[in-house]
Order: sequence, then structure tokens, then C-alpha cells
Amino acid sequence: MSTTLKSEHVTDNKQNDAKTLPESIVLDKWADNGFDWAGVVTPNIFERLAALLTLEHEQPAIQLQANLYRESNVLHLGFTLEGIVWLTCQRCLQPVAVDISDEYNIALLDDDSQTRLLDEEQDYLLLDEVVIQQASERLLPFKSLIEDEILLKVPMSPKHEDCEMAVEQVGEIEEEEAENPFAALAALKGKLS
Ligand SMILES: [Zn+2]
Repeated sequence: MSTTLKSEHVTDNKQNDAKTLPESIVLDKWADNGFDWAGVVTPNIFERLAALLTLEHEQPAIQLQANLYRESNVLHLGFTLEGIVWLTCQRCLQPVAVDISDEYNIALLDDDSQTRLLDEEQDYLLLDEVVIQQASERLLPFKSLIEDEILLKVPMSPKHEDCEMAVEQVGEIEEEEAENPFAALAALKGKLS
């Protein structure tokens, strides 16, 4: 039953391809029933992410498992990503792989008062701020919410961990090595005190 129903809501329904990540889902239909999507996506389908991707390296497919569900009366969008994206190293301008594998979870709140139902570390958004009203339907921008989280996950200025360019910039390395142990110690002390 669920397979047939789900494929109806794939907006890009060329040949009714249930594996296409839906742009959006009808909130009022799925908020209570729950909605699952699992499949493989290529990073290029996310337009804002695509702008950051290097053209110098093939982008491998990413595994995505997403689940819209209610817990303690609060709607959640949880998803797991497994894969890497290739960006441009800001030091040497060569492709650098960034792992975006992680478990993501956003609570989607009806209003602010629901924040008291959440753990302190839970990310949340107000539904009113993300829902798109289309005719009489409220659409949850499924794909764009996932893309937002990926964009938060990738570094603003990606660099190779041991970038070849850094070897030539000896001054910069010494400065970093001199500062980092101290910063790490300071952070540790902050936690212990
Ligand atoms: Zn580099």
C-alpha cells in the first residue's frame, strides 16, 4: 500500500519513478501517517549545493534515508546520509572530498511553545517558516530541508587536511602549530573548571 501512495507524491513523476527524491510532500496528508523515502541521490540535484561542487571530479552517489514522523506529538524530519561530496580546496584549488555522512534530525514545530517538548540539543524549525502554501495544500519542502542540512555540514572553506600547498607555506604552518595546542588546552581547561 505505502509504495503506491508514496509514488503519487513524487513531484517529478516521469514514468512514475518512485526513486526520485520529492521536491515537497503534502504536509497534511503525511504529517500524521508518516512518510519514508530511501534511495540514492547525486549531489547535483541540490541546486545550492551544486554551486559549491567542483567540476574537476566526478560526484559519487549518496545514500539517503529519510523519515517524517511524530514523536511526543512533535513532527520530526530525520534522515541519514552516507557519502561524500567533492568540493574545491581553498588552498590549492584542487578537488577535496568532504564526508557528509551523518544522522540529521530537525523538529518541525507548530509554534514556539513546543520547544519545551524538545531536548536542548534538538534542532528545530517553525513549520510556518518552511511550509509552502499551494492552493489549499500546505507543502513541506522536503528536498530543500535536506539540502539546508547538507549546506550546514560542509565547511565554509574546505581544505585538504594535509594540503600540498601548505607544505610550501611554511610560515603559515608554524603559526598554526604554535596556536593549536594552546587553544585545545584552553578549551579543555574551560570544560574541567
Ligand atoms: Zn589542497
